[in-house]
Amino acid sequence: MIIVMKSKADQQEIDNVIQWVESAGYKAHVSKGVERTIIGAVGDERGKVVLKAVEMMPGVEKIMPILAPYKLASRETKEGNTVIKVGEVEIGGPKFVVIAGPCAVETEDQLMESAFVVKKGGASMLRGGAFKPRTSPYSFQGLGEEGLKILAHAREKTGLPVVTEVMRASDIELIERYADVLQVGARNIQNFALLKAVGHAKKPVLLKRGMMTTLEELLMSAEYILASGNDQVILCERGIRTFETSMRNTLDISAVPVLKDKTHLPVIVDPSHAIGQWKYVLPLAKAAVAVGADGLMIEVHPDPQHALSDGPQSLKPEKFYTLMDEITSIAKIVRKEQAQEHGAH
Ligand code: PEP
Ligand code: MN
Repeated sequence: MIIVMKSKADQQEIDNVIQWVESAGYKAHVSKGVERTIIGAVGDERGKVVLKAVEMMPGVEKIMPILAPYKLASRETKEGNTVIKVGEVEIGGPKFVVIAGPCAVETEDQLMESAFVVKKGGASMLRGGAFKPRTSPYSFQGLGEEGLKILAHAREKTGLPVVTEVMRASDIELIERYADVLQVGARNIQNFALLKAVGHAKKPVLLKRGMMTTLEELLMSAEYILASGNDQVILCERGIRTFETSMRNTLDISAVPVLKDKTHLPVIVDPSHAIGQWKYVLPLAKAAVAVGADGLMIEVHPDPQHALSDGPQSLKPEKFYTLMDEITSIAKIVRKEQAQEHGAH
Protein backbone atom coordinates (compact mmCIF):
# COMPACT_ATOMS: atom_id res chain seq x y z
CA MET A 1 0.00 0.00 0.00
CA ILE A 2 1.19 3.52 -0.75
CA ILE A 3 0.13 6.36 1.50
CA VAL A 4 0.34 9.71 -0.22
CA MET A 5 0.61 12.58 2.25
CA LYS A 6 -0.87 16.00 1.52
CA SER A 7 1.68 18.50 0.31
CA LYS A 8 1.05 20.53 3.47
CA ALA A 9 1.36 17.58 5.86
CA ASP A 10 3.69 18.39 8.73
CA GLN A 11 6.35 16.15 10.29
CA GLN A 12 4.13 15.20 13.23
CA GLU A 13 1.42 13.96 10.86
CA ILE A 14 3.99 12.00 8.87
CA ASP A 15 5.41 10.45 12.06
CA ASN A 16 1.92 9.48 13.25
CA VAL A 17 1.25 7.67 9.98
CA ILE A 18 4.60 5.86 10.13
CA GLN A 19 3.81 4.76 13.68
CA TRP A 20 0.39 3.51 12.64
CA VAL A 21 1.83 1.59 9.70
CA GLU A 22 4.42 -0.06 11.90
CA SER A 23 1.93 -0.91 14.61
CA ALA A 24 -0.15 -2.68 11.92
CA GLY A 25 2.87 -4.95 11.34
CA TYR A 26 4.23 -3.30 8.17
CA LYS A 27 7.57 -1.78 7.33
CA ALA A 28 7.27 1.91 6.46
CA HIS A 29 9.46 3.13 3.61
CA VAL A 30 9.44 6.88 3.52
CA SER A 31 10.19 8.76 0.33
CA LYS A 32 10.38 12.52 0.61
CA GLY A 33 9.70 14.05 -2.79
CA VAL A 34 9.95 17.70 -3.76
CA GLU A 35 6.19 18.13 -3.51
CA ARG A 36 5.06 15.58 -0.98
CA THR A 37 5.99 12.59 1.14
CA ILE A 38 5.01 9.08 0.13
CA ILE A 39 4.99 6.24 2.64
CA GLY A 40 5.16 2.70 1.33
CA ALA A 41 3.66 0.15 3.71
CA VAL A 42 5.27 -3.12 2.76
CA GLY A 43 4.57 -6.48 4.33
CA ASP A 44 2.04 -9.22 4.67
CA GLU A 45 -1.12 -8.18 2.83
CA ARG A 46 -3.35 -9.65 5.57
CA GLY A 47 -3.05 -6.43 7.57
CA LYS A 48 -4.73 -4.51 4.74
CA VAL A 49 -8.02 -3.92 6.56
CA VAL A 50 -6.30 -2.36 9.55
CA LEU A 51 -4.19 -0.24 7.26
CA LYS A 52 -7.18 1.21 5.49
CA ALA A 53 -7.97 3.24 8.60
CA VAL A 54 -4.91 5.34 7.79
CA GLU A 55 -6.97 7.14 5.16
CA MET A 56 -8.77 9.02 7.95
CA MET A 57 -5.59 10.27 9.59
CA PRO A 58 -4.69 13.97 9.46
CA GLY A 59 -2.30 14.85 6.65
CA VAL A 60 -3.17 11.84 4.48
CA GLU A 61 -4.32 12.61 0.95
CA LYS A 62 -5.02 9.09 -0.34
CA ILE A 63 -3.95 5.48 -0.18
CA MET A 64 -3.28 3.27 -3.19
CA PRO A 65 -2.30 -0.36 -3.66
CA ILE A 66 1.24 -0.97 -4.98
CA LEU A 67 0.54 -2.77 -8.22
CA ALA A 68 4.02 -4.08 -9.05
CA PRO A 69 5.03 -7.32 -7.32
CA TYR A 70 8.40 -5.67 -6.58
CA LYS A 71 7.12 -3.21 -4.00
CA LEU A 72 10.30 -1.52 -2.81
CA ALA A 73 12.03 -1.44 -6.17
CA SER A 74 9.02 0.07 -7.89
CA ARG A 75 8.75 3.71 -8.91
CA GLU A 76 5.29 3.62 -7.36
CA THR A 77 6.95 3.55 -3.94
CA LYS A 78 9.59 6.17 -4.61
CA GLU A 79 9.26 9.25 -6.77
CA GLY A 80 12.85 10.33 -7.35
CA ASN A 81 15.85 8.33 -8.51
CA THR A 82 17.90 6.42 -5.97
CA VAL A 83 21.41 7.80 -5.96
CA ILE A 84 24.01 5.46 -4.51
CA LYS A 85 27.08 7.02 -2.99
CA VAL A 86 30.32 5.11 -3.05
CA GLY A 87 32.91 7.40 -1.53
CA GLU A 88 32.83 10.47 -3.75
CA VAL A 89 31.11 8.65 -6.60
CA GLU A 90 27.37 8.91 -7.14
CA ILE A 91 25.57 6.29 -9.22
CA GLY A 92 22.11 7.23 -10.48
CA GLY A 93 22.77 10.97 -10.23
CA PRO A 94 23.41 13.47 -13.02
CA LYS A 95 26.92 12.24 -13.72
CA PHE A 96 27.55 9.20 -15.92
CA VAL A 97 29.69 6.63 -14.12
CA VAL A 98 32.20 4.19 -15.62
CA ILE A 99 33.38 1.10 -13.74
CA ALA A 100 36.34 -0.50 -15.48
CA GLY A 101 39.10 -3.00 -14.97
CA PRO A 102 40.08 -6.54 -15.82
CA CYS A 103 37.79 -9.52 -15.62
CA ALA A 104 39.94 -11.06 -12.91
CA VAL A 105 42.73 -9.98 -10.61
CA GLU A 106 45.66 -12.05 -11.89
CA THR A 107 48.79 -10.50 -10.39
CA GLU A 108 49.69 -7.37 -8.46
CA ASP A 109 51.36 -5.88 -11.56
CA GLN A 110 48.48 -6.66 -13.91
CA LEU A 111 45.90 -5.16 -11.55
CA MET A 112 47.95 -2.08 -10.69
CA GLU A 113 48.60 -1.36 -14.33
CA SER A 114 44.91 -1.80 -15.14
CA ALA A 115 43.92 0.45 -12.24
CA PHE A 116 46.17 3.30 -13.40
CA VAL A 117 44.94 2.91 -16.97
CA VAL A 118 41.26 3.12 -16.04
CA LYS A 119 41.95 6.03 -13.70
CA LYS A 120 43.81 7.89 -16.45
CA GLY A 121 40.93 7.25 -18.84
CA GLY A 122 38.51 8.83 -16.38
CA ALA A 123 36.76 5.81 -14.85
CA SER A 124 35.16 6.38 -11.45
CA MET A 125 35.53 2.86 -10.10
CA LEU A 126 37.75 -0.16 -10.50
CA ARG A 127 36.44 -3.68 -11.12
CA GLY A 128 38.21 -7.02 -10.85
CA GLY A 129 37.14 -10.49 -9.79
CA ALA A 130 38.90 -12.32 -6.96
CA PHE A 131 36.30 -15.10 -6.84
CA LYS A 132 35.46 -16.04 -10.42
CA PRO A 133 32.36 -17.95 -11.55
CA ARG A 134 33.85 -20.02 -14.39
CA THR A 135 31.95 -22.40 -16.65
CA SER A 136 34.78 -24.92 -16.43
CA PRO A 137 36.16 -26.10 -13.08
CA TYR A 138 39.57 -26.30 -14.79
CA SER A 139 39.63 -22.58 -15.66
CA PHE A 140 41.31 -19.96 -13.47
CA GLN A 141 39.07 -19.54 -10.42
CA GLY A 142 40.51 -16.28 -9.08
CA LEU A 143 43.06 -15.45 -6.38
CA GLY A 144 40.57 -15.29 -3.51
CA GLU A 145 41.67 -13.20 -0.54
CA GLU A 146 45.03 -12.42 -2.13
CA GLY A 147 43.10 -10.83 -5.02
CA LEU A 148 41.05 -8.77 -2.57
CA LYS A 149 44.23 -7.47 -0.95
CA ILE A 150 45.58 -6.43 -4.35
CA LEU A 151 42.31 -4.62 -5.10
CA ALA A 152 42.46 -2.79 -1.78
CA HIS A 153 46.04 -1.79 -2.54
CA ALA A 154 44.97 -0.42 -5.93
CA ARG A 155 42.25 1.62 -4.25
CA GLU A 156 44.81 3.03 -1.87
CA LYS A 157 47.08 4.06 -4.76
CA THR A 158 44.44 5.39 -7.17
CA GLY A 159 41.60 6.46 -4.88
CA LEU A 160 39.19 4.44 -7.03
CA PRO A 161 36.51 2.51 -5.12
CA VAL A 162 36.51 -1.21 -5.86
CA VAL A 163 33.75 -3.51 -7.16
CA THR A 164 34.22 -7.27 -6.87
CA GLU A 165 32.06 -10.35 -7.10
CA VAL A 166 30.73 -12.35 -4.20
CA MET A 167 29.77 -15.91 -5.05
CA ARG A 168 28.69 -17.27 -1.68
CA ALA A 169 27.22 -15.88 1.49
CA SER A 170 30.06 -17.14 3.67
CA ASP A 171 32.52 -14.85 1.82
CA ILE A 172 30.57 -11.62 2.31
CA GLU A 173 32.22 -10.60 5.56
CA LEU A 174 35.67 -11.09 4.08
CA ILE A 175 34.88 -9.26 0.85
CA GLU A 176 33.25 -6.37 2.69
CA ARG A 177 36.53 -5.76 4.48
CA TYR A 178 38.28 -5.01 1.18
CA ALA A 179 35.67 -3.93 -1.37
CA ASP A 180 33.34 -0.96 -1.72
CA VAL A 181 30.61 -2.59 -3.82
CA LEU A 182 29.55 -6.26 -3.80
CA GLN A 183 28.78 -7.68 -7.22
CA VAL A 184 26.25 -10.49 -7.59
CA GLY A 185 26.92 -12.10 -10.96
CA ALA A 186 24.53 -13.20 -13.66
CA ARG A 187 24.77 -16.82 -12.57
CA ASN A 188 23.65 -16.03 -9.03
CA ILE A 189 20.74 -13.77 -9.91
CA GLN A 190 18.26 -16.22 -8.41
CA ASN A 191 20.41 -17.53 -5.60
CA PHE A 192 17.91 -16.25 -3.07
CA ALA A 193 20.00 -17.21 -0.04
CA LEU A 194 22.87 -15.08 -1.40
CA LEU A 195 20.49 -12.22 -2.23
CA LYS A 196 19.15 -12.21 1.33
CA ALA A 197 22.68 -12.33 2.68
CA VAL A 198 23.89 -9.34 0.66
CA GLY A 199 20.66 -7.69 1.76
CA HIS A 200 22.10 -7.72 5.26
CA ALA A 201 25.45 -6.33 4.13
CA LYS A 202 26.43 -2.71 4.67
CA LYS A 203 27.91 -2.15 1.22
CA PRO A 204 25.99 -1.40 -2.02
CA VAL A 205 25.22 -4.32 -4.31
CA LEU A 206 25.72 -4.40 -8.06
CA LEU A 207 23.19 -6.94 -9.31
CA LYS A 208 23.75 -8.37 -12.77
CA ARG A 209 20.84 -9.63 -14.81
CA GLY A 210 20.98 -13.35 -15.55
CA MET A 211 21.30 -14.67 -19.07
CA MET A 212 17.76 -15.93 -18.86
CA THR A 213 15.96 -13.64 -16.47
CA THR A 214 13.11 -11.37 -17.41
CA LEU A 215 13.15 -7.80 -16.19
CA GLU A 216 10.46 -8.66 -13.69
CA GLU A 217 12.61 -11.49 -12.32
CA LEU A 218 15.58 -9.12 -12.12
CA LEU A 219 13.49 -6.64 -10.16
CA MET A 220 12.19 -9.40 -7.89
CA SER A 221 15.80 -10.37 -7.17
CA ALA A 222 16.55 -6.73 -6.32
CA GLU A 223 13.47 -6.83 -4.10
CA TYR A 224 15.03 -9.65 -2.04
CA ILE A 225 18.00 -7.40 -1.28
CA LEU A 226 15.86 -4.37 -0.53
CA ALA A 227 13.44 -6.35 1.64
CA SER A 228 16.37 -7.64 3.69
CA GLY A 229 17.27 -4.07 4.57
CA ASN A 230 19.90 -3.01 2.02
CA ASP A 231 18.47 -0.19 -0.07
CA GLN A 232 21.61 0.31 -2.14
CA VAL A 233 21.14 -1.76 -5.27
CA ILE A 234 22.53 -1.02 -8.73
CA LEU A 235 21.04 -3.01 -11.62
CA CYS A 236 23.22 -4.13 -14.53
CA GLU A 237 22.12 -5.29 -17.97
CA ARG A 238 24.84 -7.60 -19.33
CA GLY A 239 23.24 -9.43 -22.24
CA ILE A 240 20.83 -12.31 -22.41
CA ARG A 241 20.77 -15.61 -24.29
CA THR A 242 18.90 -15.52 -27.54
CA PHE A 243 18.93 -17.66 -30.71
CA GLU A 244 21.74 -15.48 -32.09
CA THR A 245 25.06 -17.30 -32.07
CA SER A 246 27.39 -14.72 -33.61
CA MET A 247 27.99 -13.03 -30.29
CA ARG A 248 28.41 -14.18 -26.71
CA ASN A 249 25.04 -12.83 -25.57
CA THR A 250 22.56 -10.30 -26.95
CA LEU A 251 22.67 -6.92 -25.25
CA ASP A 252 19.09 -6.05 -24.37
CA ILE A 253 19.40 -2.32 -24.82
CA SER A 254 15.65 -1.94 -24.45
CA ALA A 255 16.01 -3.11 -20.85
CA VAL A 256 17.44 0.31 -19.93
CA PRO A 257 14.48 2.61 -20.64
CA VAL A 258 12.02 -0.02 -19.43
CA LEU A 259 13.88 -0.48 -16.14
CA LYS A 260 14.30 3.27 -15.71
CA ASP A 261 10.54 3.56 -16.06
CA LYS A 262 9.69 0.76 -13.64
CA THR A 263 12.25 1.33 -10.92
CA HIS A 264 14.00 4.17 -9.11
CA LEU A 265 17.20 2.10 -8.85
CA PRO A 266 20.23 3.04 -10.98
CA VAL A 267 20.75 1.01 -14.16
CA ILE A 268 24.13 0.39 -15.74
CA VAL A 269 25.17 -1.60 -18.81
CA ASP A 270 28.01 -4.09 -19.28
CA PRO A 271 28.62 -4.38 -23.03
CA SER A 272 31.79 -6.45 -22.57
CA HIS A 273 30.07 -9.59 -21.27
CA ALA A 274 27.14 -9.04 -23.61
CA ILE A 275 29.01 -8.98 -26.90
CA GLY A 276 32.13 -10.94 -25.94
CA GLN A 277 34.39 -9.26 -28.57
CA TRP A 278 36.37 -6.11 -27.88
CA LYS A 279 35.74 -4.49 -31.26
CA TYR A 280 32.00 -4.20 -30.64
CA VAL A 281 32.24 -2.87 -27.11
CA LEU A 282 32.53 0.79 -28.17
CA PRO A 283 29.34 1.01 -30.28
CA LEU A 284 27.34 -0.75 -27.58
CA ALA A 285 28.77 1.49 -24.90
CA LYS A 286 27.69 4.53 -26.93
CA ALA A 287 24.21 3.06 -27.31
CA ALA A 288 23.99 2.48 -23.56
CA VAL A 289 24.74 6.13 -22.81
CA ALA A 290 22.35 7.33 -25.48
CA VAL A 291 19.50 5.18 -24.20
CA GLY A 292 19.76 6.59 -20.68
CA ALA A 293 21.90 4.18 -18.65
CA ASP A 294 23.46 5.63 -15.50
CA GLY A 295 26.79 4.05 -16.18
CA LEU A 296 28.89 1.36 -17.80
CA MET A 297 30.95 -1.61 -16.72
CA ILE A 298 33.85 -2.23 -19.10
CA GLU A 299 36.55 -4.88 -19.08
CA VAL A 300 40.04 -3.50 -19.63
CA HIS A 301 43.30 -5.45 -19.63
CA PRO A 302 46.88 -4.27 -20.29
CA ASP A 303 47.61 -7.45 -22.26
CA PRO A 304 44.31 -9.07 -23.34
CA GLN A 305 46.05 -11.82 -25.31
CA HIS A 306 47.45 -13.26 -22.13
CA ALA A 307 44.44 -12.60 -19.90
CA LEU A 308 43.41 -15.54 -17.73
CA SER A 309 39.74 -14.82 -18.40
CA ASP A 310 37.69 -12.86 -20.93
CA GLY A 311 40.67 -11.62 -22.96
CA PRO A 312 38.72 -11.49 -26.26
CA GLN A 313 36.30 -8.91 -24.89
CA SER A 314 38.81 -6.84 -22.93
CA LEU A 315 39.91 -3.44 -24.22
CA LYS A 316 43.56 -2.49 -24.48
CA PRO A 317 44.37 0.80 -22.73
CA GLU A 318 44.33 2.87 -25.97
CA LYS A 319 40.91 1.52 -26.93
CA PHE A 320 39.62 2.32 -23.48
CA TYR A 321 40.81 5.93 -23.75
CA THR A 322 39.01 6.27 -27.07
CA LEU A 323 35.84 4.80 -25.55
CA MET A 324 35.98 7.27 -22.67
CA ASP A 325 36.37 10.22 -25.04
CA GLU A 326 33.49 9.16 -27.21
CA ILE A 327 31.03 8.33 -24.47
CA THR A 328 31.84 11.52 -22.57
CA SER A 329 30.65 13.66 -25.47
CA ILE A 330 27.41 11.68 -25.72
CA ALA A 331 26.86 11.74 -21.96
CA LYS A 332 27.16 15.53 -21.93
CA ILE A 333 24.18 15.83 -24.23
CA VAL A 334 22.02 12.99 -22.96
CA ARG A 335 22.43 13.49 -19.20
CA LYS A 336 21.67 17.18 -19.45
CA GLU A 337 18.43 16.44 -21.28
CA GLN A 338 17.44 13.83 -18.74
CA ALA A 339 18.18 16.06 -15.80
CA GLN A 340 15.78 18.61 -17.28
CA GLU A 341 13.12 16.00 -18.03
CA HIS A 342 13.05 14.18 -14.70
CA GLY A 343 14.43 16.77 -12.35
CA ALA A 344 17.10 14.27 -11.38
CA HIS A 345 18.99 15.01 -8.20
C1 PEP B 1 31.94 -10.39 -14.35
O1 PEP B 1 31.49 -9.24 -14.34
O2 PEP B 1 33.11 -10.65 -14.09
C2 PEP B 1 31.07 -11.51 -14.71
C3 PEP B 1 31.42 -12.77 -14.47
O3 PEP B 1 29.94 -11.12 -15.31
P1 PEP B 1 28.53 -11.87 -15.47
O4 PEP B 1 28.14 -12.33 -14.09
O5 PEP B 1 27.66 -10.82 -16.03
O6 PEP B 1 28.77 -13.01 -16.41
MN1 MN C 1 34.61 -11.23 -17.28
